[in-house]
Amino acid sequence: MTIARIALDIPLSTLFDYTVSEGMQAGVGQRVVVPFGKRQRVGVVMAYATAPTLDRDRIKPVTRVLEDTAPLSAELLHLLSFCSDYYRYPIGQTVLSALPARLRSDEPIVVKPVLSYRLSASGVALNLADFPKRNVVQRRVLEKLAETACTLAELKAVAVTAGAALKTLIADGWVESVALPSSSLAVPQNGRTHVFDNAHTLTSEQQAAVDEITQTGGYGCFLLHGITGSGKTEVYVHLMHATLQKDGQVLLLVPEINLTPQLEQCFRNRFPDVDIISLHSGLGDAARLANWQQAQSGRARIVLGTRLSVFAELPGLGLIIVDEEHDSSFKQQDGLRYSARDVAIFRASQRGVPIVLGSATPSLESYHNAQSGRYKMLALTQRASAAAQLPKVRCININQTAMHQGISENLLREIALRIARREQSLLFINRRGYAPVLMCGGCGWLSDCKHCAGKMVLHLNDQRLRCHHCGYQLRVPKHCPDCGNADLHPVGSGTQRVEAILQERFPDARILRVDRDSTRNKRAWQTMRAQIHANEVDILIGTQMLAKGHDFPELTLVGVLNPDSALYSSDFRAAEKLYAQLVQVSGRAGRADKAGSVIIQTAFPDHPLYRALQTHDFTGFASAQLSERQMAGFPPFVYQAMLRTEGKTESEVYAYLNQARAAAVALQCDVEVLGVVPAALARRANHLRAQLLIQAGTRRALQHFLRAWQPDLDALAQSKLRSSLDIDPLEF
Ligand code: ADP
Ligand code: ZN
Ligand code: ZN
Repeated sequence: MTIARIALDIPLSTLFDYTVSEGMQAGVGQRVVVPFGKRQRVGVVMAYATAPTLDRDRIKPVTRVLEDTAPLSAELLHLLSFCSDYYRYPIGQTVLSALPARLRSDEPIVVKPVLSYRLSASGVALNLADFPKRNVVQRRVLEKLAETACTLAELKAVAVTAGAALKTLIADGWVESVALPSSSLAVPQNGRTHVFDNAHTLTSEQQAAVDEITQTGGYGCFLLHGITGSGKTEVYVHLMHATLQKDGQVLLLVPEINLTPQLEQCFRNRFPDVDIISLHSGLGDAARLANWQQAQSGRARIVLGTRLSVFAELPGLGLIIVDEEHDSSFKQQDGLRYSARDVAIFRASQRGVPIVLGSATPSLESYHNAQSGRYKMLALTQRASAAAQLPKVRCININQTAMHQGISENLLREIALRIARREQSLLFINRRGYAPVLMCGGCGWLSDCKHCAGKMVLHLNDQRLRCHHCGYQLRVPKHCPDCGNADLHPVGSGTQRVEAILQERFPDARILRVDRDSTRNKRAWQTMRAQIHANEVDILIGTQMLAKGHDFPELTLVGVLNPDSALYSSDFRAAEKLYAQLVQVSGRAGRADKAGSVIIQTAFPDHPLYRALQTHDFTGFASAQLSERQMAGFPPFVYQAMLRTEGKTESEVYAYLNQARAAAVALQCDVEVLGVVPAALARRANHLRAQLLIQAGTRRALQHFLRAWQPDLDALAQSKLRSSLDIDPLEF
């Protein structure tokens, strides 16, 4: 009797034993269907055992082996086991959550073969001169196919609308399709020359970075610290080219979904005959599976994705790049709370390939690792294009200047100047809605959320008070609910209020607000981007959504409205995040031949953070922050784990955390067990929330402790409470 140990999507940190009947072929990594409780579930064979952990006669047989896809590789299973162990998350849930949804269901997958297109006999005989001139895209497709057979992805590099043109050409009989073998790894690609559009001669700094990385044999972690506009993307392109020439696959991790279509197009243009796919949560289940399989087969040579793509099968993986490595969206905030950047580093070392972390404002963790020599620092200190200058950053003291409803006269004058010159301005404010709170002038009543410890935000457009934490909403009251006074007024500003103020001041200006409310529908943002590019907008008002990676050539002024709160936040990472955000948003100004200006409205113009921004001195800022962190005993000088618990009653939540704390102390490990404290938002959606922080001097000590603590936590677990462990937490 053979016993398979199977990973199932069950919240228990074990594998489950099943028998495999003779004649059933179920290798390690194969998906299988097994009975569990009353239902059938999909699992993955992780190993084979000689002796069962249960009574032999209680072990049930595997129902069915799913042979519709290739088994998961030993390399991926190893990576997932590492994550399960490191992040203290059940192995079965770790393995299954890493798979595309379709692979978690027991419905058989119909594998659509990848088609290659070529000219039909009549297509070969066709003289292109006889083909209608106005069908431009069809002609380009025919020209391309006359050179070589192509997949749809390759044709899309010729023209975005190649799909439609192809349909017509097939219907008219000029083109035919053939199915490609399911794995192109079987077909050696050696000797295949990749077309590579070498757009620029690299600067000497870019070249030095490329050389250093391509010369490493095996694993190496590189921090590419390049100021905005220094041409990091160009370095990535050259590294990709080098990897593709050696028939390797490249994994490029990016923070945002809304950045992938632009980047995908950019890489398609540079590598016109290479299969490029993207993997992100915005794809439908079918598309996600299809792309995942393209990566698994080795056919897709460049995989562009958000954090979940770090778990893609990549049999030919030769290089990993993490762009904007400091971005907090690489950290998953529920379920398997992994950092895709950190998992990527583990994956690169496991595989023995280089990894590049790119950023203008590296995380202090990575920066510290580069300084201490664990990573190799590569700096790009100059803008790549000689014409482009860094923006001029200036602070305006809000206490010493004329203010007009929160916007300084100076800033308003600068905006007027831009409108006259037909240039664009961007006002950055990290708060959506009209005002963060509504207040009664009579009794001081504030618009508290009745379910949370937070305030309800005023949304004037639809006359609502809305809680951004739990979604609860109300019509804006006409009178104070406490004293009946009609003198209710908004306090502070959000994007909608800034929009209203500017509309009043510049009645003829074309103003566009970009925040989560105005871009709820997917198309909306695409339309807005087109409007901005066509210079049909004078003033942009936006939240951090606008700060990232968008290139707007007419934008020459950035105004930052309310950044000071981060300076006295209780989160020790607040300053680091603010610096990164302000550098990023400043980088939007003046990227083309026009110099940009940045105006920061602050009550603390002499604060070291703003001083560093003005002199573009990340190094100085980082050193100061790091020495503060070292003195205070914060990461990266300590390693942390956070146990978070929430429940309906305060006493249950605290009783649980106090017991967990006592158990932790009793273990007498080399860690510091802090006190049980309320979460930053102590109540959300009527649940009380508290947390317990553990710190250690080394990763190893922390991991050692967590393994010992786990059985205590399992024993204490209560169905009434929701608890989670967060390793290397970013949020407090
Ligand atoms: P980053 O990602 O570092 O902010 P980008 O990669 O977006 O910078 O590059 C900024 C601009 O510089 C782009 O328009 C790019 O085409 C251009 N560029 C990059 N490398 C070079 C180079 N070697 N010579 C001239 N222009 C370059
Ligand atoms: Zn009142
Ligand atoms: Zn609420």
